[in-house]
Amino acid sequence: MTTSQEILDALDGVSLVLDADLTVTALGRRNWERYWCLNGGAGRPQDPLGREVTSFFTEGEVRDTFRLLFHKVIFGDQGVVRLDYRCDARSVRRMMRLTLTPLGSEGTERRLLYQSILLSEAPRPPVPLIDDARIAREHAADATRLCPVCYRIWVPGPRDEELDWAMPPEGGRDAAVPEVVHEFCPRCALQLFDQRD
Ligand SMILES: [Zn+2]
Repeated sequence: MTTSQEILDALDGVSLVLDADLTVTALGRRNWERYWCLNGGAGRPQDPLGREVTSFFTEGEVRDTFRLLFHKVIFGDQGVVRLDYRCDARSVRRMMRLTLTPLGSEGTERRLLYQSILLSEAPRPPVPLIDDARIAREHAADATRLCPVCYRIWVPGPRDEELDWAMPPEGGRDAAVPEVVHEFCPRCALQLFDQRD
């Protein structure tokens, strides 16, 4: 076992090394398998080695944005990214931190360290809008939008888009759960692409 493999295994959370094609070339395997179960992955954990990392993401604008962000960090167009995001399970509020760090020096292969760690976990009542909402196939202009980072929602209407992103109701019920579109709210979109070391 090489030293760098030992370091990956020792790092907290999910740690993946990506090449410039976003293919997983190394990982901390035990924590990947732990993360798989933690997030309700069915069956045995899939092996990410040799796979493009965003193949595990839901197809759409959010995945495209992450691809762009990963490439910007790999090629030095952007500094280290730290992104705190929610990754709830039903009845559990979970805060995670994603850190994207470029690896390699001048003249060597460009790579990216993708590390996602758990910051906090707390019980919460089920929130139908978060737990039961399904992602719409069509990205209609009048669709309800759910920010995958902070879980703020935007309900269509003739209002100020920046101001009207609101947190979803805690434990809300009765109302029909709309199909949602995953879209970064203005605050999270700014946080993604406006970081400097
Ligand atoms: Zn947001």
